[in-house]
Amino acid sequence: MQSLMRKPIPVKEAIQKVIESTSLIGIEKVKLEEAYGRVLREPIIAKHDVPPFDRSPYDGFAIRAEDSTGASGNQRIEFQVIDEIGAGYVARRGLEKGEAIRIMTGAPIPENADAVVMLEQTVEAENTFTLRKQFEAGENISVQGEDAKEGEVLIEEGEVIHPGTTALLATFGYAEVTVAKKPVVGILSTGTELLEVDEPLTPGKIRNSNGPMIAAQLKRMDIPYQSYGMLGDDLEACLSTVKKALAETDVLITTGGVSVGDYDYLPAIYERLGAEVLFNKVAMRPGSVTTVAVLGEQVLFGLSGNPSACFTGFELFTRPALLKMMGANKLYMPRMQAILGDDFSKPNPFTRFIRAVLEMTDEGMIATPAGFNKSSAVSSIARGNCIIVLPSGTRGYTKGATVDLLLLGSETGVSTWDL
Ligand code: AMP
Ligand code: MG
Repeated sequence: MQSLMRKPIPVKEAIQKVIESTSLIGIEKVKLEEAYGRVLREPIIAKHDVPPFDRSPYDGFAIRAEDSTGASGNQRIEFQVIDEIGAGYVARRGLEKGEAIRIMTGAPIPENADAVVMLEQTVEAENTFTLRKQFEAGENISVQGEDAKEGEVLIEEGEVIHPGTTALLATFGYAEVTVAKKPVVGILSTGTELLEVDEPLTPGKIRNSNGPMIAAQLKRMDIPYQSYGMLGDDLEACLSTVKKALAETDVLITTGGVSVGDYDYLPAIYERLGAEVLFNKVAMRPGSVTTVAVLGEQVLFGLSGNPSACFTGFELFTRPALLKMMGANKLYMPRMQAILGDDFSKPNPFTRFIRAVLEMTDEGMIATPAGFNKSSAVSSIARGNCIIVLPSGTRGYTKGATVDLLLLGSETGVSTWDL
């Protein structure tokens, strides 16, 4: 009976409970080439100025600006070219009056030079060139430290390392980077009706799509997982596999068996484990039966067996919790608004999450529900690239309305959940 009296809690509160119950797993050092996708657990501090010396942003000639004073179309001024430096070299000597050094992009500005004339602005002859424009001191010079100053904190810890972050780390010689450890995640699909992906359909059975889907959701986050396969709806068998999984993982994701049906054994399993159930009903559709329990530092995600609900439960609760365990400070999917591309007339007694396709069109950013949208739907999760969020207590959305949506699969996120 207890299970029938479940009280739904708002999505925001449920997310908060999960986040409060999870913490950083630990830190480790990895080589820079293995750091992509990991979460920084040290800030990136500029170890030197960038660029480290004044340099030329163009291929051209380094001059003393004052020597170009009075240059014009009618009065071209001539310079003597005394040296040539490519990137990686330094000039043998500084400039004297009327002299120039041929200089390539990235090469250090020679002593006494304070401007660079682009090749295109000159007429060249042997060892000389002329120009027709007066230059200002500092013109066409990339100044030391213009990009970053030594000692500056450029990226805070908690940021996910993406290709740009990698470039910055390499710039300062971070051959090794302190990052957060990744949690080890177990996946267990429950349901007597489940078949393996390579099995033919038989009466009453369906193939397990949730197990492979969650494995892919974890892969998208670059998180290792351990699969505990599929089990029928059998309390003892499920309990024993859950115990084994908990001995080997930080987080266990189960699918199915979390509702109030006769063969839904996950609630009993949490009880037998002595796990603390954070919530077992969320005011959302799909996925209202999503249950999260904690056992010490370990977290158990009891996701619905319904594919759309399972998918949504992972993205809303499991993903931010895993990111928190991985030390990230931006846990949530980026949000934006778009124009609803189709009527959505159903009432929304709970917060509604609709798998949808977001596209840029002549009318702006349009998000269109991705077809059949029940919690049991699997086709719409395949088509969707975002999730429209409709607040609870609303109904009758029509095409053209402005709606909030969450972006899936983003490399970056946001630090607050504001829906
Ligand atoms: P449950 O959450 O166990 O009540 O299951 C809800 C619905 O999802 C039922 O129609 C199940 O057959 C279906 N289902 C459960 N597990 C899976 C799975 N791993 N893959 C696809 N569908 C599933
Ligand atoms: Mg079931």
